[in-house]
Amino acid sequence: MNKEITGKNHMTCKGICIRHKAMKPVGTGRYSTGQKRCQVCEIFLKWDGLWCPCCGYRLRTRPRNLKYKAKLRTRKKIDEYRIALQQQEQPPQQPAVQAHKKTSHT
Ligand SMILES: [Zn+2]
Ligand SMILES: [Zn+2]
Repeated sequence: MNKEITGKNHMTCKGICIRHKAMKPVGTGRYSTGQKRCQVCEIFLKWDGLWCPCCGYRLRTRPRNLKYKAKLRTRKKIDEYRIALQQQEQPPQQPAVQAHKKTSHT
């Protein structure tokens, strides 16, 4: 009997994922080619299961592109807003001719 301490709730990379490491596909996305991402091992795997064969963590099968794009869009909006503000801050050039007429009388 060997009493091994199996830290089930402690998920760490055991180095097994290296054997299932997926190469970066050319011209297409990783997720579209069936690759899965392990957040714990920080690696893309060529693995059929939903769980990482290495650390046991749930694999990510879909990219976060939607969120990313939305973030970009708001960022662009902020930029546009800033530019608009800057344009507003610059006062229109006013000719400084407020010379009041001298009323000269003899
Ligand atoms: Zn691993
Ligand atoms: Zn893993």
